[in-house]
Amino acid sequence: MKLSTDSSFVFYSLPGRVVFGEGCLATLAAEVEALGAQRALVLCTPEQRDVAERVSRQLGERSAGIFDQAVMHVPIETARAARARAAELGADVAVAVGGGSTIGLGKAIALDSGLPIIAIPTTYAGSEMTTIFGITEGGVKKTGRDPRVLPRTVLYDPTLTLTLPVSLSVTSCMNAVAHAAEGLYAPDGNPIMSLMAEAGVAAIAQALPRLCRNAQDMAARTEALYGAWLCGKVLGHVAMSLHHKLCHTLGGSFNLPHAETHTVVLPQALAYNTPAAPEAMARLARAMGSATAAQGAFDLAQRHGAPVSLRELGMKVADLDRACELALQNQYNNPRPLEQTAIRQLLQDAFEGRRPSV
Ligand code: NAD
Repeated sequence: MKLSTDSSFVFYSLPGRVVFGEGCLATLAAEVEALGAQRALVLCTPEQRDVAERVSRQLGERSAGIFDQAVMHVPIETARAARARAAELGADVAVAVGGGSTIGLGKAIALDSGLPIIAIPTTYAGSEMTTIFGITEGGVKKTGRDPRVLPRTVLYDPTLTLTLPVSLSVTSCMNAVAHAAEGLYAPDGNPIMSLMAEAGVAAIAQALPRLCRNAQDMAARTEALYGAWLCGKVLGHVAMSLHHKLCHTLGGSFNLPHAETHTVVLPQALAYNTPAAPEAMARLARAMGSATAAQGAFDLAQRHGAPVSLRELGMKVADLDRACELALQNQYNNPRPLEQTAIRQLLQDAFEGRRPSV
């Protein structure tokens, strides 16, 4: 890529150690030791108790116990219970094994106590690469950024993703693609983040067809997780725009599922932004091997059996006006100005699952 003479940017990189590769879970005890920690509290969802037990065995005497109550959107009550458990056990590190919900719970503990986190992601959501936290209190999810919640060490072991059902693998990968897509037109973007974004999307686009043919394809799982790492890194460094705002609104106010909502909205948000971000869209299209970015995202989801309409996710057509109103309540950065009529149309297209025509 050529830089034009008027290109200027700021680049910084968040700290953090990444250990990547098949079987790298075996290095966990050494990674805990490297942090100078002795007593690890292992976090997981109730569904992933078995993998948490494996992690706990791996830790041997450095395991202080398991807290298995992580759920989506980190309810404050769960965060308080986990914080109390960590204090009661004298934990000096939290090991979060799971997707964004479990890593989010680790972040809620770290926010309160400064406990270091080792994250072992088992989805492609990317939370482990960001300082973003979210806690839900009284039905409202508050999000923010705080350097204390950034995991110190991340172990990416693709063998732990083999059990992720194909449908969730596809939508989780689309969630990752969304981070990279908005990173390519972020107001605070830079050439390094764009390199990561394009490489991340390309890795996922190449992995998905193989992963869907065979969920146990280790090479495809490895490539998808590598792509997810790059996309998560982008999310951690640059500001997100309209797409993430819409998904936050739809998830928070209409209780739609996280990864599926990203999957449905992304092609429509890209279509909306296409006229205002031609270079980003060209790079995205190239990464997906598609004619346009918006159609590439739509086809990547649909071809692999993911939902493409909000209707399929349980959204009511009567709620679209309200969703539009909420999404426009605050101004935020977006390459194309926020236009009420066009955003209402975007939501209609997402509701119906229309393939973008740009
Ligand atoms: P999730 O963590 O909620 O996991 C979904 C389900 O899949 C859970 O039941 C989980 O136990 C199960 N699961 C996860 N990995 C599995 C595996 N390998 N095998 C079998 N089952 C597995 O889903 P998610 O999409 O990873 O995370 C969504 C949450 O993360 C949302 O609350 C979202 O807001 C948050 N998030 C935060 C950030 C951030 O930067 N803070 C980034 C992305 C997502």
